[in-house]
Amino acid sequence: MLLTGCQGGGAAAGTPTSVAPTSASVSAPAASSSSPAPSSTTTTIAARVVVLDPGHNGGNARNPSVINKPVPAGRGQTKPCNTTGTATNAGYSEHAFTWDVTQRVGAKLSAKGIRVVYTRDDDNGVGPCVNERAAIGNRAGAAAVVSIHADGSDSAGAHGFHVAYSNPPLNAAQGQPSISLAQTLRDSLRSGGFAVSNYLGGNGLAPRNDLAGLNLSERPAALIECGNMRDATEAALMSTADGRQRYANAIAAGVLTYLS
Ligand code: ZN
Repeated sequence: MLLTGCQGGGAAAGTPTSVAPTSASVSAPAASSSSPAPSSTTTTIAARVVVLDPGHNGGNARNPSVINKPVPAGRGQTKPCNTTGTATNAGYSEHAFTWDVTQRVGAKLSAKGIRVVYTRDDDNGVGPCVNERAAIGNRAGAAAVVSIHADGSDSAGAHGFHVAYSNPPLNAAQGQPSISLAQTLRDSLRSGGFAVSNYLGGNGLAPRNDLAGLNLSERPAALIECGNMRDATEAALMSTADGRQRYANAIAAGVLTYLS
């Protein structure tokens, strides 16, 4: 209802086919070593796992039978496996934008020693489904799960970013940890010079009960709608590498602040 945009009322989504290769190695450090790693490192930022979830995928539009399949979305709902996402009026796609921004965020986090797990490993595949994207974050034991999207509203003048989190929370991680993650990302984007949405949420935050990736998360999770791809100014920013780096810098800074 209040949602126009990139997700067709759904959430971040995906298919079961392309799990980032790193996710398989995330579950457990080798347990057999006779010389255990210093336990103090487990509390540092560098020891943490962050899951980055670039919305949609480049192959989704060519595979409607895959992405339209209903999957569990939490709270007894089902949603399509994944959606195609939106695009600028000039045709720059949301999936390409989210992929590029996510890679830039991941590079900055990796440089700090954080183990970054992506929910997809390229921009040419299908999905993964929304429920699988959530499962990737859960299996990874992520300290934070950040989904990255951009909106597509045709309402005149609609612009700005917002950060969604699950509400009411379905588990402890969806409570204060997720709210704090969302607030921290909101503050960082605002500090980076981005305006909060003037048409969705309030003060840059949107509590949601209908986004599968958030509903199904057992880890602190937030979903960023970076801006409105139909707004000329924001579309211009999103369509340049410099603009995408600005988004990435703000998002990475927010994640680092949240983990510190
Ligand atoms: Zn989207």
